[in-house]
Amino acid sequence: MKRVLITGAAGFLGSHLCDRFIKEGYEVIGMDNLITGNMDNIAHLFPLEEFKFYHHDVSKFVHVPGDLDYILHFASPASPIDYLKMPIQTLKVGSLGTHNLLGLAKAKKARILVASTSEVYGDPLVHPQNEDYWGNVNPIGPRGVYDEAKRFQEAITMAYHTYHKLETRIVRIFNTYGPRMRVDDGRALPAFFSQALRGEPLTVFGDGSQTRSFCYVDDLVDGIYRLLLSDCNEPVNIGNPDEITIGQFAEEVIELIGRGQVIYKDLPKDDPKKRQPDIRKAKRVLDWEPTFSRQEGMKKTLTYFRQALNIFD
Ligand code: UDP
Repeated sequence: MKRVLITGAAGFLGSHLCDRFIKEGYEVIGMDNLITGNMDNIAHLFPLEEFKFYHHDVSKFVHVPGDLDYILHFASPASPIDYLKMPIQTLKVGSLGTHNLLGLAKAKKARILVASTSEVYGDPLVHPQNEDYWGNVNPIGPRGVYDEAKRFQEAITMAYHTYHKLETRIVRIFNTYGPRMRVDDGRALPAFFSQALRGEPLTVFGDGSQTRSFCYVDDLVDGIYRLLLSDCNEPVNIGNPDEITIGQFAEEVIELIGRGQVIYKDLPKDDPKKRQPDIRKAKRVLDWEPTFSRQEGMKKTLTYFRQALNIFD
């Protein structure tokens, strides 16, 4: 049985990855310091013998007994309001945490996949964003703590690959949604779903003309699984290229839930104006592309939000 360590295991993406690896027959070791993660996301795995959990902060030295075949580093605050609240932890987990896990991977002769982000492209001047674009990031802006930690993460991961011949993979994740998102994590989709269900106005920031491209979580997890098992050590974008303005997106949520109205709030500083993944590389190298339409994905996600908020009308 292959053993995989998944950091950020109690988070939105980490917990879905735990499920996928358990399903594929792996022994899964989850690790999380629970500053943004939620044990409810992995409670169903605790009875399984092939699942273990360590409550640990990966910014401190990481010890895992026994062999490891793979490491997936998904620990980090990931929502803009979280990394504004926890700037130092965000910087540490992307830098010190990544360094610790690269060291662990080297010691265990394990392959490591790190979670990078479309934020490495910043407020992009190239559209859609392909992997060869170097980005437009403000290092000292409010998002810099996340963006630069992730850029450093990519740099140190490539350095371990080049100098230590470590097997490394880098996924650049674009906006992803689905069950187990924190209902109050402040991102557009959880905010709009929660607001519409509660009968509150939907807070569109700026004039709503900024764009994002939303990927359903099952598609993302499948792309990550394929990337881990591929031989591609360069960064690969995984996301859904179906781009929409935030204003239109709010309208879609209102239509889906059957109530709500929009109010406009100030646009946060350095909020990217456009974002759309160029996924030609993922198609070519991983034979991967998203399969869930936004309509299907949002329906599934709505079921989760209704349960999480206990609002069924
Ligand atoms: N946004 C919004 N209202 C909200 C939350 C977010 O209009 O209540 C906007 C935000 O300004 C951004 C987009 O929605 O332009 C996506 O924001 P999110 O926080 O989901 O993630 P980002 O893609 O910016 O990292």
